[in-house]
Amino acid sequence: DVPLETLLRRPADIIGSADNAGHARIPLPRDLFQPERINSRGIEFGERAAVNRLVAEVAAERASVAPVNDREPIDVHRAAATARSGFSSWSRTPAAVRAAALERAADLLEQRSARFIALLQREGGKTLDDCVSEVREAADFCRYYAAEGRRLFGEAQSLPGPTGERNTLRLRGRGVFAAISPWNFPLAIFMGQVTAALMAGNAVVAKPAEQTPRIAAEAVRLLHEAGIPVKALHLIQGDGHIGAALVAHRDIAGVVFTGSTEVARSINRVLAGKDGPIVPLIAETGGINAMIADATALPEQVADDVVTSAFRSAGQRCSALRLLFVQEDVADRMIEMIVGAARELKIGDPSDPATHVGWVIDGDAKKRLDSHIARMTREARVHFAGSAPSSGNFVAPHIFELNDARRLTEEVFGPILHIVRYSSSALDGVLETIADTGYGLTLGIHSRIDDTVEAVIDRLQVGNIYVNRNMIGAVVGVQPFGGHGLSGTGPKAGGPHYLTRFATEQTVTVNT
Ligand code: NAD
Repeated sequence: DVPLETLLRRPADIIGSADNAGHARIPLPRDLFQPERINSRGIEFGERAAVNRLVAEVAAERASVAPVNDREPIDVHRAAATARSGFSSWSRTPAAVRAAALERAADLLEQRSARFIALLQREGGKTLDDCVSEVREAADFCRYYAAEGRRLFGEAQSLPGPTGERNTLRLRGRGVFAAISPWNFPLAIFMGQVTAALMAGNAVVAKPAEQTPRIAAEAVRLLHEAGIPVKALHLIQGDGHIGAALVAHRDIAGVVFTGSTEVARSINRVLAGKDGPIVPLIAETGGINAMIADATALPEQVADDVVTSAFRSAGQRCSALRLLFVQEDVADRMIEMIVGAARELKIGDPSDPATHVGWVIDGDAKKRLDSHIARMTREARVHFAGSAPSSGNFVAPHIFELNDARRLTEEVFGPILHIVRYSSSALDGVLETIADTGYGLTLGIHSRIDDTVEAVIDRLQVGNIYVNRNMIGAVVGVQPFGGHGLSGTGPKAGGPHYLTRFATEQTVTVNT
């Protein structure tokens, strides 16, 4: 009987060892998407008992999650100004001390995993396997940035110079960072943004998504408990108006934002119009993510990977597959297998561990997705229309075939897959269509021809490319994540260069 913690903790030799530089090895099996397959995927039989115990603990925690109804009045100015005063001592705190606080936060997250899973289910509607991965990812971010922070911020780097001169380069925090996050990874992305900014020596004012305030509140409490000074980390709750006021505040020295492309643009405009110092924006946004499957691909694997990529987390992942290009020679068979795999999905209560697809975040999201489904049902060929419980914000998985990929002009953030056939001579046209979307977040390729794979990788400016596997679930330190163009400004969360984006560089030359 394996302890519960092993379900949530990556072993120390993978993430978080003192000398970790991001070279993770094979992670523990983290994918419980199909619980019936747990044993065949190599998890010890005894872990089934651990899953059952986890479910019981989460149920007990869920009962005690109260709705947030006692929000304090929001004072953006006070939060930003206090953070500014917290910055001077936090930025001078040795990197090793900052890193140790993040590692304590990771330990606390793992100890309280059942609590955070319960919160993720209550506020985010996430399935058990998604919650387990998310708690784990949040802890991974803490440990990875702690290890990277020791490496980058520990000692000033010595540079060459003539005799009689000493040159050094060091990284320093910028000041107060505004961290604005989305609801779809309300723990992992929230913690990832905040811990990266803090590790780099900044103070932080965090503004989580209005749909998931309780998770953020408990995460901030945990970080304070782990040793982050109260003055260095502030939380303000509220909607986009509060986010906009925070970005515009004069004390903000940098902004890290994850969310929609449209909001990233509006933040950019606010920053461009500000007086005073030029404020950098780290933006990680959406995508119209494509996968290409040619006639050499293994159909069973394609079906499995397509269903996982398009429908897991009810399609509410920025990395999720939206547009599948299938070579026409094999299209009928592949579509049949994909539809067969989609029929197996269980849609319903996310707290039931057998559920594959839970609800979408709120009524507005459901309305938008239902209207897209209605339009596609009129305009496209319907291959699959799943069924979902009629009460609650459920959206059943759907599969449509379009005769022209350009009819999909914006990100559809839900369990809806669009398929387009292409002829073997038209691969160039497919690549052009993908490039023309302007997005560049994730891309899947299923092909056994090395030249095809190389050519696709070479031609497309996409942040994360997955060959012959599913295209979601980037692991911290293993698949640094982030995209280009309409998908963001290009930083890679969970990668070796990420922390430098939050810092200034200072060169000191001493005549000895
Ligand atoms: P959103 O852009 O609506 O909101 C994100 C955050 O911005 C929220 O906290 C919101 O309150 C705030 N906000 C809204 N208007 C603002 C404004 N004018 N100024 C400042 N802040 C403002 O996004 P969402 O619906 O919460 O999340 C879904 C989107 O996030 C999708 O587009 C998805 O692709 C994207 N996403 C991207 C990544 C990535 O790593 N690239 C990861 C997760 C989600």
